Amino acid sequence: MSSSSNTYRITIVGAGIIGLTTACTLLKEYATNENLQLTIISEKFTPETTGDISAGYWEPYGLKTIDERILRWAGYTYNIFLSEFFSIKASCSGIMKVSSYRLYGFNGQNKDNNINNTEKPKFSKLVRHFRLLDQHELETFDHLKPTSGFVMSSIVVEVSKYLPQLLRFLSQDNRVKFIKKKIHSLIELKDQADVIINCTGLASRYLVGDQTVRPARGQVIRVYAPWIKSAYSFDTDEGVGYAIPQSDRVVLGGTFQLNDWNTKVDENDTRKILRMCAKALPALEQIHSGRVDVGLRPYRDDGVRLEHEKTIDGINVIHCYGHSGAGVTVSWGCAKDVVDIVKTLLPPNSKRQDNLPEHEQLWRLIPNFKYIILRAKI
Ligand SMILES: Cc1cc2nc3c(=O)[nH]c(=O)nc-3n(C[C@H](O)[C@H](O)[C@H](O)COP(=O)(O)OP(=O)(O)OC[C@H]3O[C@@H](n4cnc5c(N)ncnc54)[C@H](O)[C@@H]3O)c2cc1C
Repeated sequence: MSSSSNTYRITIVGAGIIGLTTACTLLKEYATNENLQLTIISEKFTPETTGDISAGYWEPYGLKTIDERILRWAGYTYNIFLSEFFSIKASCSGIMKVSSYRLYGFNGQNKDNNINNTEKPKFSKLVRHFRLLDQHELETFDHLKPTSGFVMSSIVVEVSKYLPQLLRFLSQDNRVKFIKKKIHSLIELKDQADVIINCTGLASRYLVGDQTVRPARGQVIRVYAPWIKSAYSFDTDEGVGYAIPQSDRVVLGGTFQLNDWNTKVDENDTRKILRMCAKALPALEQIHSGRVDVGLRPYRDDGVRLEHEKTIDGINVIHCYGHSGAGVTVSWGCAKDVVDIVKTLLPPNSKRQDNLPEHEQLWRLIPNFKYIILRAKI
């Protein structure tokens, strides 16, 4: 495919973590293409996207890992986050490496009775420092009485810092334009883009009529609990709870309610989350205040849709949506696959300037930066 007037016009619809990560990867791959025009159109920007609510914890959660792509995307993303953590910009990127404990069973009972949870999860080979907990270590959690568990080094992405940093990186490149606008049909963009990348998450249900995308409602509480420095997820008699530390707060969860469109806080959920978390970390019983957020994960029956479609109107669309509870976890891996498809449609210049290490390219920061969102009609 050749683009009009030698300019590569790429439009990303959606400025959640998937859209922004894809945009960053495009800039890196097309670093020497002056003819690139990248437009990011979105109804909402951070701090109003789904990722802003997320706990930002790395684990392929809510996605079926029988899909081999998930593990590939998650592993690729884990390694990028880890290199960010060890980079000189780590203090501003909002990425933390944490010890993470998963505890199965409650009160000495296996949750799903006969399920043997001493098997390693498929993602165990992707992470550093994974090991199953022995009996002695399980006894540390005797108030919970788990039957098995593991510990690993995971990553927490503090989204309130991280998403603005991605925007900052993008805004310093004058080939990038932001437009705050709701698109009602991709046909609206037909004459303005050679390639459209659809990163609209749950809204793809309406934008491209994919009825298999459904909400998986999640409610979380951000509390001040500075003594918690590791991540924990655990079975209880009321469901699975988790506590994920951030730099100054701990995110307590959670709920995963399929087909629930309610974006309002449910006080019963709040109480249940606090009850569950206090079972694992009893001092949380003293916590009576925190910020409660609700978000709708973009669950999709067949997992993530990442593919190229030439529509009947002749538009080249690359879809990337349906990341459920793992959009942060697979973000860089998905972005790479999307950009690999774009490259087959709009070949980049062969000479790439890779003289900077990856994390330096991603986090070239401009002090006192302000990004400009156009509200123009297109
Ligand atoms: C409570 C909770 C906890 C979570 N915890 C984790 C976690 O610990 N780890 C993890 O990996 N993931 C987690 N997730 C999941 C993660 O947040 C999502 O998978 C991810 O945010 C999805 O990103 P996205 O960019 O696809 O969608 P979104 O963030 O929803 O972005 C979609 C974008 O498209 C725009 N848009 C939509 N329709 C249109 C339109 N018609 N025109 C223009 N723009 C449009 C929106 O305005 C938005 O900017 C959690 C989610 C929730 C709710």
